[in-house]
Amino acid sequence: MNYLLLRYCGIFFLIALHLGASSPNFKLSWPTPNPAFARGLGYSTFLQKTGPDKAVTSGAYGCVRNNGYKFHEGLDLYPVKRDRRGKAEDSIYAAMDGVVSYVNSTASYSAYGKYIVLEHPQLNPPLYSLYAHLHSITPNLKRGSRIVIAQEIGKMGNSSSGYRIPLERSHLHFEMGLRLTDKFQNWYNKKPFTSKNRHDNFSGFNLVGLDPLAFYTKYKNKSISNPIDFIRALPVTVIVQVKTKNIPDFITRYPTLTTQTKSTATNGWTVSFGPYGIPLQLKPVEEMISEKEKQIKILQFNSNTQKKPCRRLTTQKGSEFFPTEQLQTYLELIFGL
Ligand SMILES: [Zn+2]
Repeated sequence: MNYLLLRYCGIFFLIALHLGASSPNFKLSWPTPNPAFARGLGYSTFLQKTGPDKAVTSGAYGCVRNNGYKFHEGLDLYPVKRDRRGKAEDSIYAAMDGVVSYVNSTASYSAYGKYIVLEHPQLNPPLYSLYAHLHSITPNLKRGSRIVIAQEIGKMGNSSSGYRIPLERSHLHFEMGLRLTDKFQNWYNKKPFTSKNRHDNFSGFNLVGLDPLAFYTKYKNKSISNPIDFIRALPVTVIVQVKTKNIPDFITRYPTLTTQTKSTATNGWTVSFGPYGIPLQLKPVEEMISEKEKQIKILQFNSNTQKKPCRRLTTQKGSEFFPTEQLQTYLELIFGL
């Protein structure tokens, strides 16, 4: 059975989407009580746009902000219930069974405001999901707490460090994706940040989101039976060769995203990236890589996948391609460069 779980006013709804073969471990629940997506209604019935005169897609994933120049890594979902002052009252629910990886209960510490990250070890690969701008996080949830699908984990809000989200634009920022490294602090220490890293391995820099709406839609249409099906169907944007002896913890966390079967020494890696820098596959390079070779070399690039102006992975000078700062950052994080 393929269900989308919904919970409204404390009551569970099981919206049976399709009958069919889905992995028994792979069930999705909508993270808010809004039944609109499950009922097949349009974006405007659940996406929070960035302002009254903005396109509804400004609440979607992708190059949707600042005329396409600014990336938005998740979905902004608006509340279905408010108090008389306009304050959101929606509960926030876990999208899948999982484990609490991180809780930030101090709004001023992050642009995400109060946020919680779950990881979903039963999935292939074990995605994370992230719930941000919360009003509050359910008491007693802490790192290692086990969570069941559709369990309440917090309340919707408008918390954020820098930019103040007006009460009337209270929403859930919902993200799902992959985590690049277990050693985020090492990378952070090398960068000229003026404040300390307060979020361990769960800073936004270390998380790469995929498109949750595309993911939920494919789940609903029964075209994926596990997240790996979704990831394998993404187009390859760029293939990069990285010269390093380092074995990234990324492949231990996500073994299905590598062709590496044994942890023997390697001379480097070829990495395929999907849209906006989702790592799709890491392959060890057995052959020697010449001393003269650059540390990061673009092997292949598909310009059709980089038409939008934000989160670009390559730049071109003459006939040669170079990594953008964004791609450089992803590779530094994955390989500890
Ligand atoms: Zn957002």
